[in-house]
Amino acid sequence: MPNFTDKARRLDRIRLALRRRYGQPTAAVVTHPVEHALRTVLSEEATDDQVDQAMERIRKHFVDLNDLRVSRPREIRDVLGTNFPRSGHKARVIPRLLDQVFKQHNSMVWDFLEKMGKVEARAYFEKLEDVRPFVAAVIARDCAEAHAVPVDNDVARVLGRLGILDPGTQSESGMQAFLERAVKASRAYEVHALVKCFAADVCLVGTPRCAACPLVGGCRSPVRGGKGRARKGKARASKSRPKKAAAGAGKKKKRR
Ligand code: SF4
Repeated sequence: MPNFTDKARRLDRIRLALRRRYGQPTAAVVTHPVEHALRTVLSEEATDDQVDQAMERIRKHFVDLNDLRVSRPREIRDVLGTNFPRSGHKARVIPRLLDQVFKQHNSMVWDFLEKMGKVEARAYFEKLEDVRPFVAAVIARDCAEAHAVPVDNDVARVLGRLGILDPGTQSESGMQAFLERAVKASRAYEVHALVKCFAADVCLVGTPRCAACPLVGGCRSPVRGGKGRARKGKARASKSRPKKAAAGAGKKKKRR
């Protein structure tokens, strides 16, 4: 049974292997925290292209973010599209997130974040109802420079299959706390961004591309079948670099 130190070392080897494949991710400057939060919610189990397209549909359909805030989940789900990953769940979370912040600050501009410290910012979003800990972790990391390793379903799936996390017994907050102990603050963004990229490229939700997996040797998952198992030296994954380095990484936008 691997102990904490073993897992931390293995995680670092995973980071290095993924960096060789995808390159060093660059953290985006967040200039629009609300859009960053939306992208974070949308990015779970979705590719960057899917998130870009969903954001574009949201911009076209709703008058503004306030209109999105007061819209019904069913309408938001229809805009996301029924094929968009976890569209029903995301359509419920988005207005809940926007509405709770609006009611506390009477504004759709989250400039209150500028005055919050790391701990305060994370605690603020963690206390919101129906907002998962990984959303709070992304916002605290990217808008308040907190040390955070967000664990959404993608990170839990990949690191669960690789035997670093155990999503069956650990809570989302517990997995984040584990990774924040195991990963230095200076590498936290890189680890998260690379795992998200790998999750969207190779270690997919339904049918992972195990034959193209550079980490197959360390995989503990039963989904890694004989047919999918890569032979040493034969694995070929797409060399696509992450378009955006992390979940919800925002483009430069005008602050609202
Ligand atoms: S071998 Fe398959 S299941 Fe295991 S980490 Fe690689 S892609 Fe994921």
